Amino acid sequence: MDDNDLSRYGRHIMLPEIDFEGQQKLLAAKVLIIGVGGLGSPVALYLAASGIGEISIADHDKVELNNLQRQIAHDEKSLGQSKVNSCAHRMKAINSKINIITLEEKLTGRQLLSSVDSADIIVDCTDNLTTRFEINRACVEKNKWLVSAAAIRWEGQMSVYHCGAKDSPCYHCCYGMRENGSQEFDQSCSANGILSPVVGVMGSMQAIEVIKLIVKQGDVLLGRVLLFDALSMQWESMQLPKNPNCSVCA
Ligand SMILES: [Zn+2]
Repeated sequence: MDDNDLSRYGRHIMLPEIDFEGQQKLLAAKVLIIGVGGLGSPVALYLAASGIGEISIADHDKVELNNLQRQIAHDEKSLGQSKVNSCAHRMKAINSKINIITLEEKLTGRQLLSSVDSADIIVDCTDNLTTRFEINRACVEKNKWLVSAAAIRWEGQMSVYHCGAKDSPCYHCCYGMRENGSQEFDQSCSANGILSPVVGVMGSMQAIEVIKLIVKQGDVLLGRVLLFDALSMQWESMQLPKNPNCSVCA
């Protein structure tokens, strides 16, 4: 770290839980963010600002007008551009020293596995169940940390998964019954609406968990789900049990 870095990251370094050593860990970390929409925007921007050394962002969509209500990595000038290029542009404007890898595609199959394998932590910011199940499978197979969140209407939820940890469930343990069931669970913001800052809250919380995992401080939401209701301004947290017969992680 040079003098500029010490100045840039000074407010992190002041925190005894991070310090010089923790900031070095952040600068050496590799994070994969899948989806740079409502959740992925704050995750990408905060992790770039925090100095995560290598951030891969994956998304196959282009920026549309209806995204701008909540997807704060994009702006009017990026309409029609790919979301990954738009988001990378904003990340670089904040921090030109980090390495940003753009994956303008729907990560799936072997490509998903290899992207998951090259990251330390995977952040699921996607908006549909099918993709979430596939990302979970890849993280279980590659034994990686998965920081997952979802938001709809006035509500958000998030969890951290790692099957290598004792008694820790995977995403499929908790939601597997929905995989081949009715589509009613696959609720999307396009059909149900979403209050703009709710994705900001949940995405910021995902960024916090990523940083804690990298600097190995505090208690992450491993095996727990945190539920946020913006209308009543209440938070709730529950344990998530491991399914001993889970078809993915058992
Ligand atoms: Zn499982």
